[in-house]
Amino acid sequence: MSAIEEFVFSPPSVVSVPVVGTGARFAVHRIYCVGRNYEEHAKEMGFTGREPPFFFMKPTDAVVVVNSGEVGSLPYPRLTSNLHHEIELVVAIGKGGRNIAAAEALQHVYGYAVGLDMTRRDLQNDMKKQGRPWCIGKAFDHSAPIGPITPAALAGDVAKAEIWLQVNGQDRQRSQVSQLIWNIAETIEHLSAAWDLQAGDLIFTGTPAGVGAVVAGDSLQGGVAGLGTLQLSVVAAQ
Ligand code: MN
Repeated sequence: MSAIEEFVFSPPSVVSVPVVGTGARFAVHRIYCVGRNYEEHAKEMGFTGREPPFFFMKPTDAVVVVNSGEVGSLPYPRLTSNLHHEIELVVAIGKGGRNIAAAEALQHVYGYAVGLDMTRRDLQNDMKKQGRPWCIGKAFDHSAPIGPITPAALAGDVAKAEIWLQVNGQDRQRSQVSQLIWNIAETIEHLSAAWDLQAGDLIFTGTPAGVGAVVAGDSLQGGVAGLGTLQLSVVAAQ
């Protein structure tokens, strides 16, 4: 096969996230998300939490990068009247692999970030009822805000860190990463059994209890201890 010499239109630019402590950026390959991975959140969604991990994906260009110290802008999406926040620890994969054992999994982690799995809950619930895919509820434009990636060596004990989200200064979600049903290593083991992980993959590891709606004008501030704070304003659709 001959090399591609030209494109019929300009190819999209590479989606990337800044890395703490370096000018280099982390190029995003895929975005995987874990469903119902904190027991109290599983319960608030009507489930027991006692189930194998399951996954969905977001498109890479759903990323909204929010730099440290900045307030990002999150456009209120179309078709919904129930946009929910889900604060999540994001794992950034630095070394790919398949069938990665949990005992080896952390060697594949480049670093960690704070992310939001924004969800059009009304549309997701409609799809659940009908047994249809969640894409329209989960994988829309701007649905994956993320802060800078902190390299693992600088991130402290992420497995035991506090995770929290405030809306307009009021606590909505507050828990500990240690409350994950499937921890970081186990999640990588399960994911890599189903897909070949690659450097550049992001894994949104699930959200604790307390998910709820935001509206245009709301300010979101969330974090994971050791990884900084993610700040966003919800703005009315254009
Ligand atoms: Mn989620």
